[in-house]
Amino acid sequence: MKHEKKFAELKTLLAEVNDLNNAASVLGWDQATYMPNGGAPARGRQLATLSKVAQEKFIDKKIGKLLDDLLPYEESLPYDSDDASYLRVTRHDYERATKIPPAFLAEYNVHAAETYQLWTEARPANDFARVRPNLERTLDLSRQLADFFPGYEHIADPLIDFADYGMKASSVRALFAELRSELVPIVKAIASQSPADDSCLRKHYPEAQQAEFGARVVKELGYDFNRGRIDKTHHPFMTSFSIGDVRITTRVKEDFLGELLFSNVHEAGHAMYEQGNDPAHEGTPLAGGTSAGVHESQSRLWENVVGRSRGFWEHYYPILQAQFSEQLKGVPLDEFYRAINKVEKSLIRTDADEVTYNLHVMLRLDFELQLLEGTLSIRDLPEAWHERFESDFGVVPPNDSDGVLQDVHWYGGVIGGAFQGYTLGNVMSALFYEEALKAHPEIPSEMKQGKFATLHGWLVQNIYRHGRKYTAPELVKKVTGADLTIKPYIQYLKTKYGELYSL
Ligand code: ZN
Repeated sequence: MKHEKKFAELKTLLAEVNDLNNAASVLGWDQATYMPNGGAPARGRQLATLSKVAQEKFIDKKIGKLLDDLLPYEESLPYDSDDASYLRVTRHDYERATKIPPAFLAEYNVHAAETYQLWTEARPANDFARVRPNLERTLDLSRQLADFFPGYEHIADPLIDFADYGMKASSVRALFAELRSELVPIVKAIASQSPADDSCLRKHYPEAQQAEFGARVVKELGYDFNRGRIDKTHHPFMTSFSIGDVRITTRVKEDFLGELLFSNVHEAGHAMYEQGNDPAHEGTPLAGGTSAGVHESQSRLWENVVGRSRGFWEHYYPILQAQFSEQLKGVPLDEFYRAINKVEKSLIRTDADEVTYNLHVMLRLDFELQLLEGTLSIRDLPEAWHERFESDFGVVPPNDSDGVLQDVHWYGGVIGGAFQGYTLGNVMSALFYEEALKAHPEIPSEMKQGKFATLHGWLVQNIYRHGRKYTAPELVKKVTGADLTIKPYIQYLKTKYGELYSL
């Protein structure tokens, strides 16, 4: 058969692109974990070379020709067959990649690396002016990038689509407006009460014991150490080199018990998603996660819905208490449970609790849209940040380090599409969990016994194994039978925090 030969040729070419990208990921992992500082200049160059070669190989006209030739074959197959999905996902990636001129990409990469370097100096120095010219250029380049995809409704649409394929500014805005109207009264009601006491988490917890407990928990949740490992880093992340090697990183604070543990569970959630891919997708464009939002739904499902639930701690708290008998002596489960779910108006997004977290995301999304529209300038951004933060949180950030300089996203990437995935993830985490409970009402009682195989198995079957086969909107429809809704998430927050704070 003619198409079989062509398909085999396409697969060979794409496997090489995949190998180059995964080799670059190994270098990136090493850079963030064990590489000595002296390796930085050469490593930056090596990563740039690999990504350039991978990009050149991918946008090669040969691939476009093969995709054209294989279109009749794709159209003859059922939509969700592996071959049709392989071709559909590749076609989407290819069309997107070929619209961006290589010279633009090269310029952009050099600019992003330089801006990131400046940011690492500017943030500790509280010196926004130092990165401002670069950030202005980033905005300019972000607009240019969007313009390679004409026909959009809002200039942010192509950039949002990169991270969360199938979403656009108007759909995210509508969802966030609905969510905001529900969240603000909950935040206000909680803020009117005295804050939870989390001093039990802020004692001395030796690193080795924290690491041991943190590794045990993720193993029992379903993270496979035969196909993964945990190493230390500054800003924890998950990275994968194949379905057989999906790694997580963590960081420890000896004076705060929550750091390593919840970071581990969060990153293990991302990792279990990719470890759970169908092995048949190994080395293909179908491996991985389908969108920023769906990926984040998995980290947050395990971290928050499971890892910060009372049932989970009914099992683990006695074990933790035995491990840290001095520190947790006389601390009842309910006090610990309240401590790990403390709601407060934090300045920092990554430290924020489940309830206020989304307000941080909404602020950033709104600024991205305004910057791209041209209704807000980079020069006015720090001031705008302070004003908006005060009106949303009732707190004025004391400086720019903990304001506009706090997140790496705009300083190492584009402005647009960088943040909405976090809140989409929160919304989907509750949505998917609700579906898992419909199928298996025994999940909460199993959790109290430290058993997670039913939940993990449901997620593998309904989400993980598909990898990138379905877009996020398709996946939501397939799993829930309906479009994305905030209802289960709001219900989840109201139930949990209603009990915690007697609302
Ligand atoms: Zn995450």
